Amino acid sequence: MRAVMEKGPMSRANIAEAVGLTKSTVSSLVGELMARGLLSDRGQAQVTGAGRPGRLVALSDKTVVGLGLEINVDYLAACVLDLAGGVRVERFLRHENRGVPVQSVLDALGELGRSALDEAEAERLIPVGATIAAPGLIETDGGTLLMAPNLGWSETSLRTEVANRLERPHLYVTVGNEANLAALGELWQGHGREWRDFIHISGEIGVGAAIVVDGELLRSGSGLGGELGHVSIDPDGAECPCGSRGCLERVVGQEALLKRSRLDAEVGTSIGVPDGGVRLLAESAERGDQETLDALAEAGRALGLACGAAVNLLAPNTVVLGGIFAPLFDWLVNPLREELEERAFVARYSDLAIVRSELGASAAVRGAASLILRAVCADPYLVGSSGH
Ligand SMILES: [Zn+2]
Repeated sequence: MRAVMEKGPMSRANIAEAVGLTKSTVSSLVGELMARGLLSDRGQAQVTGAGRPGRLVALSDKTVVGLGLEINVDYLAACVLDLAGGVRVERFLRHENRGVPVQSVLDALGELGRSALDEAEAERLIPVGATIAAPGLIETDGGTLLMAPNLGWSETSLRTEVANRLERPHLYVTVGNEANLAALGELWQGHGREWRDFIHISGEIGVGAAIVVDGELLRSGSGLGGELGHVSIDPDGAECPCGSRGCLERVVGQEALLKRSRLDAEVGTSIGVPDGGVRLLAESAERGDQETLDALAEAGRALGLACGAAVNLLAPNTVVLGGIFAPLFDWLVNPLREELEERAFVARYSDLAIVRSELGASAAVRGAASLILRAVCADPYLVGSSGH
């Protein structure tokens, strides 16, 4: 399954070659996975050499799906992906998640998740699991949100709370950090496979980063990494709720950008939501508003200052700007590049690419859904023998 997921439809003979098993073993495993509705027949392979052409085996888009859910500071999202990578349901809901009881946010997320699952089930698709993306520190067993400074949440058993609200006891439910899942979304669903070594920076009200090395997400033992937003770019700068001073997100986070541009910082995000703050910023920059242009140029330089250290240490070939930085890319990229060229060898002596995220607002929620499908590939027994 992993071979077919990574390389696309292929014949049984080619799978055998790719995974180093005999053709008869592969044929019997393919038969079993087809009976489970995980693989499907995709017609005759093209004749490329001697011998009878085999039939192509592909991941099935007709049975198993994964649900991604996302809690961000001021919106919620849900996405259903099929095994073949098709988006079956995708929804963004503007929802202020700060200063309201945690339970009411979880109720709204549960409702969004249930309606996405209902829609998938109405198409006779079988949801096997859900991943919840959250902007905070997640315990390594993946069930508890330890702290989300921008939400003001701490110690929340997200897995249990959300699993109960989805009302499907058989679902496999897990929780992940939003910045990590956005990088995985880009890796598996966007252009990430071509980039291989990249730093993915997601901007929202907070700023997170994730690092992919040789096609794998870099995970620290504690799972508490990626906090680019709290890298200090000014030791004497303004105090940050995290306890430090001069943190990057005080300059480049969405609310900071809106305030510096003298736009209404109360509008809420965001990407995915049509009249969100990021559109105000982009429109203001397009009109040539000097305060907005200055704020974005300063943000580009601040991003360069903060991620210059990571670029020097890790020498990625690509820096990806995601979240709100994707629609603002055109105004950020030049000051960011100049700052990096001044500070990082890699930016001067190799072809460091700075690119706009392919998936933008959808990256984290798609990464979350993809994680479930990867889990099915790793353990097809998550799905029962008749596809149930
Ligand atoms: Zn901070």
